[in-house]
Amino acid sequence: YHLEPVILADVVAELADMTEKFSDRLIRVEIREPVLAIVDRDRLKQVLINLIDNAVKYSDFDQPIELIVDYAQQQAIVQVCDQGVGIPLQDQSRIFERFYRVDEARARSAGGHGLGLAIVKTLVEGMGGSITVRSKLDEGSVFTLVLPTQAKPL
Ligand code: ATP
Ligand code: MG
Repeated sequence: YHLEPVILADVVAELADMTEKFSDRLIRVEIREPVLAIVDRDRLKQVLINLIDNAVKYSDFDQPIELIVDYAQQQAIVQVCDQGVGIPLQDQSRIFERFYRVDEARARSAGGHGLGLAIVKTLVEGMGGSITVRSKLDEGSVFTLVLPTQAKPL
């Protein structure tokens, strides 16, 4: 890992633009605190691309996707929020396992192998961060990244 100070607002804005270009979905960005994270820029992008890909895949065209950047308890926070199908409570602890997909029949039509979140978790923890999910069936999901930071908000 090549850890360096990364302005999260920049990375998030770049990925929001890219997603809007390629998926034709509207992505809202909310910078609550313009914070620096000490992360590997390319791996952070890989993480966010996976989370945004899921948000796009598991929600409908007209359901907004939101990316939030924040700062709390001396750590940098990035949240990827969707208002899609959601994840049943009993599956939430397992979605970070390799090849685990909720409701295989439904998931198959969305494509993928159930590897994205396993890779995400490995990368995030490799950078000294953590990832959690909060979700409700038929209401949507929020994936929260907590990342190391050195400085106070800019
Ligand atoms: P891959 O990422 O390998 O293309 P995948 O998207 O199915 O395939 P993961 O990204 O690891 O795999 O996600 C695992 C499972 O968790 C998914 O199959 C899906 O059931 C569920 N899931 C992940 N993100 C969301 C989300 N934002 N909303 C609803 N379900 C989700
Ligand atoms: Mg995925």
